[in-house]
Amino acid sequence: MLQFKPIFLGKVPRQVPRAATSQRCIRTNDVENVGRTSRHHTFFEMLGNFSFGDYFKKEAIQWAWEFSTVEFGLPANRLWISVYEDDDEAFEIWNKEVGVPVEHIKRMGADDNFWNSGATGPCGPCSEIYYDFHPDRGCSDVDLGDDTRFIEFYNLVFMQYNKKDDGSLEPLKQKNIDTGLGLERIARILQKVPNNYETDLIFPIIKKASELANVSYAQSNDRTNLNLKIIGDHLRAIVYLLSDGVFPSNIGRGYVVRRLIRRAVRTGRLLGIKGDGRGNLEGAFLPSIAEKAIELSTHIDSDVKAREQRILEELKREELRFVQTLERGEKLLDQMLADALSRTRESGSVPRLSGQDAFLLYDTFGFPVEITKEVAEEHGVSVDMKGFDIEMENQRRQSQAAHNAVKLSVDDSADLAEKIPDTEFLGYDTLSAKAIVES
Ligand code: ATP
Ligand code: MG
Ligand code: MG
Ligand code: MG
Repeated sequence: MLQFKPIFLGKVPRQVPRAATSQRCIRTNDVENVGRTSRHHTFFEMLGNFSFGDYFKKEAIQWAWEFSTVEFGLPANRLWISVYEDDDEAFEIWNKEVGVPVEHIKRMGADDNFWNSGATGPCGPCSEIYYDFHPDRGCSDVDLGDDTRFIEFYNLVFMQYNKKDDGSLEPLKQKNIDTGLGLERIARILQKVPNNYETDLIFPIIKKASELANVSYAQSNDRTNLNLKIIGDHLRAIVYLLSDGVFPSNIGRGYVVRRLIRRAVRTGRLLGIKGDGRGNLEGAFLPSIAEKAIELSTHIDSDVKAREQRILEELKREELRFVQTLERGEKLLDQMLADALSRTRESGSVPRLSGQDAFLLYDTFGFPVEITKEVAEEHGVSVDMKGFDIEMENQRRQSQAAHNAVKLSVDDSADLAEKIPDTEFLGYDTLSAKAIVES
């Protein structure tokens, strides 16, 4: 919805009063939830309807209800509603106009029911629709956040304020609507499967990975299934990111895709996939799983299929690049963890990996710090994340200083080539830089 922000704020005139969208979303803040909850992905599709100063709360609520109960055919008694704590207007519309009983409407705080598009900018109270898998559990002591009973699938944002730098809320001239309905979540409800991963949007990818790993999802333990779900999730995100031209690198969005690829590689290895999974130990396995994700993408974006070759090549390159250092890094990490644990035994302190160690793994072996954290936690060791951030910041400062010291433009480097005298190649006899300097 970011492209709509200037319209919500009234800075750019609307071209249409209403819109409906299918947005591809990446939410890396949910990466640790993947596979652990039944409903969170790093990539998902969000269906939405928007009003730019056209219809508002009453219509948005009535239509969301109609969409859920008539189009999707969900039984009304399975639906629960959350509203922002002081939004009496929304409460009344749900109760009086739509007919939802008061026991099924919960008032919730700003964390869940006040939506911000960033630190500043358009925002407003929201109201969500939840599906109840266990109406048998009754209406008392209900917690809509209970993942074993409920799933939030629809969020209606009443975008009526502009949050300013000082945090104050300024009413917008026009009132807007921004809704979001998670496709994987509604698919899970309608297909009556235990979690989003078992819907036809994701399960074929899991199946492909389980064939390569020679395991069966149905007969596996929780750990194996968690790893299969991570692969199912990450491969979709990776494929769309690469398709949209986000390439692995160490900065910004490039690092988002790099982290996901590296996590998928490690997860595949935990599942026992070796090489390409078909006997070629020098090969890469992610491309063959990605083919399945690409095959499933055609309903969203036919460009992904058209870019298949490029996506698969990039993925293969990044996987093989990582595998080269992965084993050495894993050995070093094992050693670091053993040291941390033995230090603890001696001193009685809490086992902890230092920020420097985590940084060394990141910088020299390409271990995203989440992987280090994950492995460490599997061994009951925590990671000094503050220390890691300090190391990162030091490196950033050093490279900035180096960059400033050597500000070379293309022309400068041409000049430089003129100025530097011929050099003699010493590498036949001497290998280290030190030896060259001394000689
Ligand atoms: P939750 O509370 O379950 O984390 P949310 O309140 O963070 O969800 P919203 O920001 O309201 O989600 O997003 C609108 C809709 O998008 C949600 O109602 C849900 O259907 C879907 N959605 C949000 N986050 C995810 C995710 N990580 N994976 C899949 N679907 C999601
Ligand atoms: Mg969330
Ligand atoms: Mg929520
Ligand atoms: Mg929500």
